[in-house]
Amino acid sequence: MAIMDADYLVIGGCGFLGQHLCERLLERGYSVRVFDIRKTFENEKITFIIGDLCKKEDLMAAIQGVSCVFHCASPSPLSNNRELFHKVNVEGTKLLIQLCKWAGVQRLVLTSSASVVYEGKDIKGGHEDLPYAAQPIDAYTETKIMQEQIVLAANTKDFYTCAVRPHGIFGPRDPHLLPTAVDLARRGKFKFIIGDGKNLVDFTYIDNVVHGHILASENLGGGSVVCGKAYNITNDEPIYF
Ligand code: NAD
Repeated sequence: MAIMDADYLVIGGCGFLGQHLCERLLERGYSVRVFDIRKTFENEKITFIIGDLCKKEDLMAAIQGVSCVFHCASPSPLSNNRELFHKVNVEGTKLLIQLCKWAGVQRLVLTSSASVVYEGKDIKGGHEDLPYAAQPIDAYTETKIMQEQIVLAANTKDFYTCAVRPHGIFGPRDPHLLPTAVDLARRGKFKFIIGDGKNLVDFTYIDNVVHGHILASENLGGGSVVCGKAYNITNDEPIYF
């Protein structure tokens, strides 16, 4: 069956961020296609393609006939699987860029992470000009740095790329942050205070993260300052954690 052309392809569209992104894109009148290794929800307005970002044939089938790609697929940071992080975040992203160019996709927005500049030392009010962490805190972060560098370097005069960097995302249907915190609390593991209890952590509400992604995609184009850049995305104030 032929697949209809679409304004957006959301890679990782069945994840927490991806699903919210799809819903907002539809509200704004865009046509949406999802590519993911699993299907987690139904929506008759969305074309779902189940496949692996690391498999060329899977991706080739999904990427033709779209003008913009959101790349928000990643193995869970909790998986602690260095090989898998490298395969999906680095090799999968290289393949994605190769196939975007092959298929004539014009714009690519990567969901990066604020952790790309974090080395274990406090950062308050940090801007995008902070250098990448020379000693990333884990394999997930190491591959998010490589991934972001690959995506930004791929920006050309007819293929426009940028990256959006949230830190912790929270909001409705969050499968990560709150369920993990509740689970830890239930198991009595939330009784410790590290530091003086005034540590700040940056969390961003899901709708703000989605809004930032859509603004980035809508402003990518010839002559735009957005092209080839990474943008931190946050709420107004950090939260005590
Ligand atoms: P998520 O785990 O809910 O969603 C990720 C999706 O990617 C899943 O649906 C998964 O099936 C899919 N996926 C994984 N490997 C794939 C592959 N090989 N091929 C196709 N699909 C694959 O995660 P999320 O919270 O929605 O995060 C989305 C993005 O945002 C990720 O890139 C993550 O690094 C980044 N991020 C998330 C947070 C956060 O707090 N959730 C913070 C900073 C950055």
